[in-house]
Amino acid sequence: MPTKVTNSSGQSSGTEAAAAGALAVSVKDLSKTYNTRRGPVEAVRRSSFDVRRGEFVALVGPSGCGKSTILKIAAGLIPFNEGTVMVGGEDARSGRRDVGIMFQAPVLLPWRTVLDNVLLPMEIFGLTSSEAKDRAHELLNTVGLRGFDDKYPWELSGGMQQRASLARVLVYEPGILLMDEPFSALDEFTREHLNVELAKIHETYGRSVLYVTHNIQEAVFLADRVVVMKPHPGEVLDVVDTNLPRPRSLDVLLEEETTRLVTGIRRKLYTHELKRGRHGD
Ligand code: ADP
Repeated sequence: MPTKVTNSSGQSSGTEAAAAGALAVSVKDLSKTYNTRRGPVEAVRRSSFDVRRGEFVALVGPSGCGKSTILKIAAGLIPFNEGTVMVGGEDARSGRRDVGIMFQAPVLLPWRTVLDNVLLPMEIFGLTSSEAKDRAHELLNTVGLRGFDDKYPWELSGGMQQRASLARVLVYEPGILLMDEPFSALDEFTREHLNVELAKIHETYGRSVLYVTHNIQEAVFLADRVVVMKPHPGEVLDVVDTNLPRPRSLDVLLEEETTRLVTGIRRKLYTHELKRGRHGD
């Protein structure tokens, strides 16, 4: 059931409803505090940003700035304290099927072949069919695993396992992808090649993507817009339009404009850190 869109006075607004429809993800004034045995930990403070439909947005910032927390909230996996988080026009807490989630670890089942791992979500949703099998096979080709259908996860490198995970998340054709540092455990070269594949998939299928990373270059390379966050507590510092050309090939990594954007984001983060050090807050 779509959640009714209301304005600040609590009344439905046609304009806001239309705007919400154009947004894949909308995070507004989000605050989240974890209650731990040592006391409260303020992970995210009054943070707002959007992912428009078909857009690739990267959430970047140093470790502990609340990126994973925001992604888990958008995925409906953990509760939050204040604000609104809408995914595909519905409250993030409603638990949607139109969202694909990918984490850092591939989590493939070792006793299933690569193809059967990719088909797992279809089985869970009761959607197995010969078309689904054909699609899974096609996706394995798309992510660069042609000929690996009958292999087992332990026969694959880390990069190949993440390729299989990517095929698995795409198999049920979710409109929105939530990705939490999916390639961060891989070596730099494998990561860069997987980034090119992911950009190609995004450009081909037009999925909306919210992508968490602590790697500024990766964020700039992949995204249309980069949401820059700072830690303690996690807050949005800036939102940067990349405006880099598509398709994104490895050439884009070498362009001056990419370096300029990466340096600009790094400068923003370091300037904030230095100011914080001076004022001690
Ligand atoms: P990031 O993904 O940017 O590294 P996280 O969202 O993982 O940041 O963490 C943000 C803050 O919340 C950190 O201070 C972290 O220690 C804290 N945190 C994250 N998960 C939990 C949890 N389950 N319980 C308590 N504190 C947590």
